[in-house]
Amino acid sequence: MKSIYTCPHCGAKSFNPWKKAFAGGLHTKGKVCLNCGQHCVNGTASMVFSAVVYIAALIVVLYVYFKGNSIWDYAFMLGAVAAAYVISRLFDAFFGPLVKPIRNDVLS
Ligand SMILES: [Zn+2]
Repeated sequence: MKSIYTCPHCGAKSFNPWKKAFAGGLHTKGKVCLNCGQHCVNGTASMVFSAVVYIAALIVVLYVYFKGNSIWDYAFMLGAVAAAYVISRLFDAFFGPLVKPIRNDVLS
């Protein structure tokens, strides 16, 4: 079985969960593979998942903004966005394969 920590360029298992979590999405520069030196990013699954998570967080933020009436409202809104960020990073760390970036300015 192909590991999700395998470089899409050279096939070496040169990523770990931590490094993959911060490799970024399709439109970022990604992280460099230690074996071949080419850039790798998290693929479409990561992009779709984080979009869904951030939309959910946005709904929470709007709900609290309009319905909330406690002094903790801003903490909840901040917490929702922070949670969305953490959940997205966790997804990137443990799910979804690495792919080649679609940006071509990272090849220089
Ligand atoms: Zn590589």
